[in-house]
Amino acid sequence: TARIIDGKARAAALRADVAGHVTHFAARIGRAPGLAVVLVGEDPASGVYVRSKGKATREAGMVSVERRLPADIDEWALLELVSELNADPAIDGILVQLPLPSQIDAQAVIGAIDPAKDVDGFHPVNAGRLATGLPALVPCTPLGCLMLLREAYDGKLAGLDAVVVGRSNIVGKPMAQLLLGDSCTVTIAHSRTRDVAARVRSADIVIAAVGIPHFIAGDWIKPGATVIDVGINRLPDGRLVGDVDYAAAVEVAGAITPVPGGVGPMTIACLLRNTLVAACRREGLPEPDGL
Ligand code: NAD
Repeated sequence: TARIIDGKARAAALRADVAGHVTHFAARIGRAPGLAVVLVGEDPASGVYVRSKGKATREAGMVSVERRLPADIDEWALLELVSELNADPAIDGILVQLPLPSQIDAQAVIGAIDPAKDVDGFHPVNAGRLATGLPALVPCTPLGCLMLLREAYDGKLAGLDAVVVGRSNIVGKPMAQLLLGDSCTVTIAHSRTRDVAARVRSADIVIAAVGIPHFIAGDWIKPGATVIDVGINRLPDGRLVGDVDYAAAVEVAGAITPVPGGVGPMTIACLLRNTLVAACRREGLPEPDGL
């Protein structure tokens, strides 16, 4: 059976590394890095995410600023807040929690964030920098997946066949760019792909980012492959499951991430990492190494 990739432990180690760098940053600059999280409306799931991001930020020794706006706010008021945070010298990272209410154009809001403070990595400038191999702020979830993969393969990803199932701007597309950057041969499968199973069967690395429970069947997995399950799906009985049929896949795969306890904890740890990196770049400090 597969080796279980312990995202929780890897994330805890990354958070400890970030906290160490934060101490040095504060000693040199005279302040801690600051992350502002903006929440529009009362969506309970978003509220949970925002609270846990704030807690993790403080635990890493950074300053957490939480700004809440009512659900019926109009777009210019949110843009106004973003430009206020762009101009605030104590703020190194800005994250606008998605999804936004329908009267607000999310792309316009993301495009208004200073790319140097865009710790989610969703700004077109950061997406373009990632795609062209320039230093960028990289979306947290795919970055966390890449870290788990690099560790699983001891950094030797070159030439491996990877399939990414899902093509969102948040997960699938940046994941494919990162794998390409590490010289994998990358296939992106999506809702219009004719035979997803055949693509997955030929892959050494499978990234599942679909949002459908048990979408990836166990017998799609090539024996020995590494399976990274990004999906977070709540079943009617309340259980959280990924996009992969875990019970079946764990018998075939070489290594696999569980849900929960795989990719999820890495996402928040990478947000802290991105905030530290953004702060160092803004202050002209060298990139924190080992992150
Ligand atoms: P999304 O809905 O934006 O994208 C889903 C993708 O799946 C689409 O690109 C679509 O083409 C593809 N897809 C849909 N049906 C398909 C089918 N039948 N065959 C092949 N492809 C199909 O979702 P997202 O934001 O990319 O998130 C994907 C999943 O990852 C969700 O479950 C989400 O909750 C989870 N997620 C987890 C984290 C984390 O921290 N672990 C972060 C972000 C998203």
